[in-house]
Amino acid sequence: MLIYGLLSLLGLVVIIHLIWFMIFKRTFTPVLMYHRVTGDTKKDDVRFIIHKGKRLDLDSMKVSPTNFDVQMAYLKKKGYQTLDLKKDFHKPKTVYITFDDGYEDNYLFAFNSLKKHGLKATFFITSELAIKGLFMPIDSNDKRVENRLLTTNQIREMSEAKMQIGSHTLTHPWLTHEGVNIEDEIIKSKRELEEIIGKEVTTFAYPGGLYNDKVLELVSKHYDVAVTTSLGESFRKKDETPYTIERETISSTDSLLMFKLKVWGVMKFIRKHPLIGLLKKVIKWLLRK
Ligand SMILES: [Zn+2]
Repeated sequence: MLIYGLLSLLGLVVIIHLIWFMIFKRTFTPVLMYHRVTGDTKKDDVRFIIHKGKRLDLDSMKVSPTNFDVQMAYLKKKGYQTLDLKKDFHKPKTVYITFDDGYEDNYLFAFNSLKKHGLKATFFITSELAIKGLFMPIDSNDKRVENRLLTTNQIREMSEAKMQIGSHTLTHPWLTHEGVNIEDEIIKSKRELEEIIGKEVTTFAYPGGLYNDKVLELVSKHYDVAVTTSLGESFRKKDETPYTIERETISSTDSLLMFKLKVWGVMKFIRKHPLIGLLKKVIKWLLRK
């Protein structure tokens, strides 16, 4: 009986904290992560890969052009501003929209929608794959036109239309793995992109969100900011540095309500709140008994 009383008390504390957080939610600055904007789907035999020890559905990384447009319309209607990612990125009523991998569908669908709503975004490009017209490693068994990456001309056009271009390495390796030339992947990719767009490239995205101390040191020497692929371990702002900016993934199954909850920071709050973690553990333990 006592345990249920304690559980209710914990739940109440979390709810009060959530209400407090919602009222002051303007302190949360969402950095949204997209990969692809397309209605295309993969065949089952090339749809799933193993990533970080987990089965990853590549189609979950695709947001349909219609859903993307609805999401952008919401941001516009609610008066959110979109900016280039910079060191001091925590700003009121601001959303950062970012894309990893540089698929051509970013140009074909996302770019148009962003222009239509007067919004801007950051596109993280794997420079050598773009320059050579190659496919992403995860599409090595699915080289259809639908999986093409942006061309250098498209990247230039997007940059000229005030979209921010960032580096996502040369070839998209896991930077923490042995045998990877991290100097080239981090520094040469910056130079190659700068040559394409004729502007300085100041932002970086770690492929797969993977980094270690050596990678962090190199990135911080050559870029102003860098983004990861996860929400990190905590919702506390002070745990984040300009080189480990956490992002909220927008996936194919997100409804507009879920998108709003992510923009407001509610999903991050729920996933990372230490008391909710504790509550889940206690409930699991009770169910096992
Ligand atoms: Zn990537």
